[in-house]
Amino acid sequence: MKKLLLLGDEAIAQAALDAGLSGMYAYPGTPSTEIMEYIQSSVDASARNVHRTWSANEKTAMEAALGMSYAGRRAMVAMKHVGLNVAADGFINSAMTGVNGGLVVVSADDPSMHSSQNEQDSRFYGKFAMVPCFEPSNQQEAYEMIFDAFETSEKYKLPVLFRITTRLAHSRSSVTLRDAIPEKKLSLPVDPLQFVLLPSIARRKYKSLVSSYEEVKFDIRLSKYNHFKDGSNRELGIIACGIAHNYLIENIGESNKEIPVLKISTYPFPKDLIKDLTSRCREVLVLEEGAPVVEESLRGILDDGMKILGRLDGTVPRDGELNPSIVARSLGLPVESGRDVPSLVKMRPPSFCKGCGHSDVFNSLIEAIKPYGQGHVFSDIGCYTLAALPPYSAINSCVDMGASVTMAIGAADAGLHPSVAVIGDSTFTHSGMTGLLDAVVKDSSITVIISDNSTTGMTGGQKSQATGRLEQICLGIGVSPDHMHLITPLRKNHEENIEVIKREMEYRGVSVIIASRECIQTATKRKKDESANA
Ligand code: SF4
Repeated sequence: MKKLLLLGDEAIAQAALDAGLSGMYAYPGTPSTEIMEYIQSSVDASARNVHRTWSANEKTAMEAALGMSYAGRRAMVAMKHVGLNVAADGFINSAMTGVNGGLVVVSADDPSMHSSQNEQDSRFYGKFAMVPCFEPSNQQEAYEMIFDAFETSEKYKLPVLFRITTRLAHSRSSVTLRDAIPEKKLSLPVDPLQFVLLPSIARRKYKSLVSSYEEVKFDIRLSKYNHFKDGSNRELGIIACGIAHNYLIENIGESNKEIPVLKISTYPFPKDLIKDLTSRCREVLVLEEGAPVVEESLRGILDDGMKILGRLDGTVPRDGELNPSIVARSLGLPVESGRDVPSLVKMRPPSFCKGCGHSDVFNSLIEAIKPYGQGHVFSDIGCYTLAALPPYSAINSCVDMGASVTMAIGAADAGLHPSVAVIGDSTFTHSGMTGLLDAVVKDSSITVIISDNSTTGMTGGQKSQATGRLEQICLGIGVSPDHMHLITPLRKNHEENIEVIKREMEYRGVSVIIASRECIQTATKRKKDESANA
C-alpha cells in the first residue's frame, strides 16, 4: 500500500482524487487553500483533466460544484469557515434540491482566529441544513472519510459537510492510500424536477430531507467513526469530538483502560451512543473544537440531571483553539510545559513586505485625507488590512469580504464625507462588484480605491479573477470615465497620486481609483518560473 506524508488538507485532496473526483471548486481562504493547490499541482488531476480553477467567491464555487453534481459527477468545494457564510444560500438550498453525483463541502474552521475575523463552528451549518457532517480526528481518518462522504452523498442524494480545523488542515502525518476508483460518467438526475425549488416541489423535498436526516445517523458509513470504549472509572466519562479525540489520546494513551471514552466524528449522532457512556458514569466531560455543539445538545438528551462539564461550565475555556495542554488541564492532569523561548527570538508585528504596492497606496491616502481627520476609511480583507496597524493606522473598519464598499455607501448616506473604500482586486471580484453597482445606481458619494496587486496575496498568490479587467468591469458597472483613474503606487508618483485621491474625494459621486502594482512575492515567483522555463 502506498504511503504519503500529507497535510490534512492534502489528505482530503488526495482522497477526493482517489475517490473519482471530477471537479474541485474553491476560493482561497486559510486554512483551506492547500486543498485546491494540491489538486492543481496533481499530475493525476492534470492527466484526467479534473476541473480545478479558483472561483470568484465561495457562493459561485458552491453552485458550480452543485452543477457538476447535477450532471452526475463527483464534485468537491472547499472554503474557510467564514466562506461558508458566503456560500450559505447555495449550501442550504442544495440540501433541499439534493444531489446527483456525490457532493462534498469542505469547511475549514479556524478556532483561535489565527487568520480570521471570527471563530464560528461549521457544524451548526450542517445541523441547520440537515445534512450529514464528517469531522475527522486525524489525517488518515480524513482520507478514509472522504470515500464514505461521497458514498453517503450519493446514497442519500444529499450534499455532505466535511468540517476540519486549522491544526488538522496544517499538520502532516503519514497517510496510507487506497486503490483509486474511476470517475463517474455523465448522467442527468432521475427526477427531472429535483433541482426546481418551486414551493410545491420544495415542500415535498423538505419532508424527504427531514426523514433522510433521521435515517443517516444509523448508516454504517457514518456510525463506524463514532465509537465507545469503556473504562473502569465510574466517576467521569469523556465525549471527544474530531481532533479533540486526538488531543485526549495524547494525554491518556491509546491503551487507556480507565476512562470511558466516546469518540464522535460524524453528525447527526444517535442518542443511544451517548446513553451508552452516560449510563456508566457520574459526570461527563465534553471535549470539542469550536462551539459547544455536542455539549448543548446533551442538555436536551440527558434528562437525569447528570453533571456536564465542558465549555459551558468553564472546565474547558469557552473560546479559542484546544490543544493537548488545555485538555490535560481540563482532566486535572499535570501540564508539561515546553522550553522557554530564547531571548534571541523577538516578536515581530505583521507588516507589508518590503516594497509592497499597498504601502505606497496608503502613504498617498494618509496624506490626501489628512485635512478631514480620522474615521473616513473603510477597508476590506487582504494584505492591505495591515494598514490598520502602526505606522499607518489608516483603517477604520474591516468586517467581511466586500463590506468596504457597502459600508462606505452607508456612511456617505449618513452624511460622512469623504467616504473612502479600500479593496483588493480579488476581493473586489469576490464581493465588491455588487456594492459598486449599488453605489452607481444610488449615485453615492464614495471614493473606491482598488489596490490591485494582480493576485490573492494574503493566501499565497492565487490567480485573481480580475487581472487585467478591473477598468473594464468598473466602466461596465457604470462608473463615469471622468471619475475613473489608473495610478501606479510607486514612491516616485507619490505627489501625483495624492492629487488624484484628493480630487476624487472632493467629488460628490462615485469615483474609482485603480492603483496597480504586482505583489512583490508573486512577481518574484513569476520571474523565477519564467527564467526556469526559458
Ligand atoms: S504578499 Fe504581496 S500584497 Fe501581501 S504584503 Fe507582501 S507584497 Fe504586499
